[in-house]
Amino acid sequence: MAILNSILIIDDSDAVREKIIKTLELFNLFTHYYEAEDGLVGFKKLLTSPVEIILCDLEMPRFDGFKFLSMMKSRPELQDIPVIMLTGREDRDLKIKALEQGASDYITKPFDAEELVARVKVHLKIKALQDDLKRTNELLLELSNTDHLTGLFNRRYLMEVLDKEVQRSKRKGGSLALIVMDIDHFKQVNDQYGHLQGDIVLQKVALQLQKGLRNYDIAARYGGEEFIAILPDATLEEAAFVANRVRTSVLATRFNGELSHLALTVSLGVAIFSKEGCSTVDAFIKRADDALYRAKANGRNRVEFAE
Ligand code: GH3
Ligand code: MG
Ligand code: MG
Ligand code: MG
Repeated sequence: MAILNSILIIDDSDAVREKIIKTLELFNLFTHYYEAEDGLVGFKKLLTSPVEIILCDLEMPRFDGFKFLSMMKSRPELQDIPVIMLTGREDRDLKIKALEQGASDYITKPFDAEELVARVKVHLKIKALQDDLKRTNELLLELSNTDHLTGLFNRRYLMEVLDKEVQRSKRKGGSLALIVMDIDHFKQVNDQYGHLQGDIVLQKVALQLQKGLRNYDIAARYGGEEFIAILPDATLEEAAFVANRVRTSVLATRFNGELSHLALTVSLGVAIFSKEGCSTVDAFIKRADDALYRAKANGRNRVEFAE
């Protein structure tokens, strides 16, 4: 078990708190013991001193255990801290209510020392497992191939695939097309409707891009409001057809609610890989990007091609 554990004990009785601490100290489970005489004092302590676990009396004058639980609910960062309620033996309904309100467990007073320690250990173990799981999930998210807003592939994966496709094209000489797409005046969308609505627009544009591609093409979110599609074996004509199909479908997209008056367009740049024109992946992207830049300069809502 982790060595640097701390616990918060909330009870209006000094004697009860003292007895709990004495008991836990025998087992060396904690390095820090925080105490509070009611829920509000406890909650304030919690905000400044994070703990692994909380023991909380149910009935206290002023600010009781239920109020404490509801305060905890309002803070997402406190959701994972187990709270064990201290209840009277006969408080059946209160025990159930506390569990329903987010308590992890309860211990009946006067408590049995060994039972107290055993339950605290169980919840520390669950907490440690949950923390591990959370870290693993964060790691997986980092390693994953998808962009979480749009569901398209992310930039990391795009670069991986593009690298392979460029190698393949160099070896086998097959055609390979790249489309870079950028939303026109997207900053204005954010400014006018807010970032959340902006995100909805990004999702819809991503969907139109995905729909406009062929089955074996790969679409990725390259940056904020910039997308890239890889079209293996596509000629310039085929890529131009796809790019224009995406452009017109975005133009025809109708948005709901607040966004119903939004007329959105995208600009696209298309490039074909050639050993002569671009030696590296970066140079390939740069060529498509230059074409995109011209599409912007030439009035937006259009497709331009790399020379
Ligand atoms: P242009 O037609 O020249 O492309 O103009 P623009 O306004 O689209 O381009 P600019 O680069 O000035 O602005 C891009 C904006 O995209 C700025 C940034 O706040 C926004 N943006 C980037 N990522 C996100 C995101 O994930 N969500 C939202 N809502 N906005 C984003
Ligand atoms: Mg009490
Ligand atoms: Mg941009
Ligand atoms: Mg833009």
